[in-house]
Amino acid sequence: LEKKLAVLEGRIPQNYPEVKYLGYKHRKRILVTGGAGFVGSHLVDVLMMRGHEVIVVDNFFTGRKRNVEHWFGHRNFELIHHDIVNPLYVEADEIYHLASPASPPHYMQNPVKTIKTNTLGTINMLGLARRVGAKILIASTSEVYGDPMVHPQPESYWGHVNPIGPRACYDEGKRVAETLAYSYAKQEKVVVRVARIFNTYGPRMHVSDGRVVSNFIMQALQNLTITVYGNGKQTRSFCYVSDLVDGLLALMESTYTLPVNIGNPVEHTIEEFAVIIKDLVPGCRSTVATGAAVEDDPQRRRPDIAIAEKHLHWSPKISLQEGLQRTIDYFKEELSRTTFYNNQTY
Ligand code: NAD
Ligand code: UDP
Ligand code: UDP
Repeated sequence: LEKKLAVLEGRIPQNYPEVKYLGYKHRKRILVTGGAGFVGSHLVDVLMMRGHEVIVVDNFFTGRKRNVEHWFGHRNFELIHHDIVNPLYVEADEIYHLASPASPPHYMQNPVKTIKTNTLGTINMLGLARRVGAKILIASTSEVYGDPMVHPQPESYWGHVNPIGPRACYDEGKRVAETLAYSYAKQEKVVVRVARIFNTYGPRMHVSDGRVVSNFIMQALQNLTITVYGNGKQTRSFCYVSDLVDGLLALMESTYTLPVNIGNPVEHTIEEFAVIIKDLVPGCRSTVATGAAVEDDPQRRRPDIAIAEKHLHWSPKISLQEGLQRTIDYFKEELSRTTFYNNQTY
């Protein structure tokens, strides 16, 4: 207790990750909406370590304080509990606008809220960017291509989205977010960047996130049946989170203003993916079972990343095996904590 009190009194410095010192001329104030979520918290880490001031705004719908708690108390860090559907008045030089549920079961749970977050929330962030003259990056998604008729998907493809299906709240919400970004750019001269993010995975995904990577890893670690939805012939291409974060940073810094695909073009069927994960978990006794298909599930997805390579000089570095190994290690740790807390995660 004495040691803990000493930390509070400032006699023992907190053990923060290493932060570069930036002079005031180079130090930016950066707002990250959804910064307590999976992708956002990794982005916050890099921005903090580069020496910037970071303001995280999050309503903790799917994010957790724990994802950013290692920065609590740091002079460059601020956490605001706020729902971006409501106006927000803060000052910033740059905005990374990531707030939105991202996992299908989460965004389908309250479709109206998902639409509000992506439309009203995005209007508020663009209004804020306009007022303070900040550059804003919108986290869009490969879902704007819907169940694509063109493969792989280049940015020039307009997509194939069911406007009234179960995924529409998210897909159409993000499509409007893109439209809003370019309308504010044209009419109000707001400087915008649009990242079309493809399936991303890594540590800090929630154990009950519901997306395929966390589901399959949790099932494999507990020797439970690995649940493939549909026949498993549908494909996805998975990007490790640190690669995505590098891509987002490169996009913000670049002069390229049109949407850019950020993702890893290595494509697998979901059936193959189940086996890859099973094989990476030593001694796993899970079986792989196919089940009912999900309505409107996109059948093929792979990014064409020629624009990111050319304009951002970016391409993913982390292989699927390496990324999955790191993610499995993280989930192992989470699982031991979960058991310890009697199946409650916080
Ligand atoms: P996540 O659910 O872990 O993070 C989203 C964060 O936004 C959470 O912290 C959540 O609490 C917060 N949030 C949601 N609604 C909010 C609101 N109304 N006000 C304030 N905060 C709110 O998801 P993620 O995977 O980190 O996704 C981050 C962004 O990237 C999202 O915009 C998502 O659409 C986009 N994206 C992610 C992927 C992926 O594979 N991870 C793919 C495509 C696009
Ligand atoms: N807004 C905000 N923070 C700001 C500036 C604006 O949340 O710092 C919100 C504001 O509430 C408005 C929205 O952003 O509803 C759009 O702003 P804009 O200036 O485009 O529109 P207006 O204020 O004229 O409606
Ligand atoms: N999927 C699956 N089992 C699961 C979760 C997902 O087979 O437990 C499938 C899902 O039907 C989709 C793919 O895996 O075809 C990717 O799903 P996810 O929810 O991760 O992301 P999406 O790309 O669909 O948004």
